[in-house]
Amino acid sequence: MSARPLARPAPIVAAGAKGRPQGSKDDMTPPRTIDLGGARVTLQWEDATLVLPSGVLRANCQCTACRQAAAGGGVTVRGDVEVTGASPIGGYGVQFHFSDGHERGIFPWTYLRRLAGA
Ligand SMILES: [Zn+2]
Repeated sequence: MSARPLARPAPIVAAGAKGRPQGSKDDMTPPRTIDLGGARVTLQWEDATLVLPSGVLRANCQCTACRQAAAGGGVTVRGDVEVTGASPIGGYGVQFHFSDGHERGIFPWTYLRRLAGA
């Protein structure tokens, strides 16, 4: 086994670049725009864009009722569910309103990034 030392220098961020490390406190920054496109939701930060299918959001709702349903076998999600509205929650997340009438789940930005695999 060759244990080569990691000689990779720290990345140099050019002046004016919008780079920022993952997991920084800036993860709490609200997106500039939230675009509700029916079957999907697009959240846009200066340096990142998340696109999440409405059904994925609905299936991963973290409200008490959905977490209980998930623990008891799964949340039933209609295939054509859409996000019909979004209410900012204290700057750290958003509450989505779904076309099936559900609107109790709060989705922190960090949770949305995790759902999107970002
Ligand atoms: Zn829920």
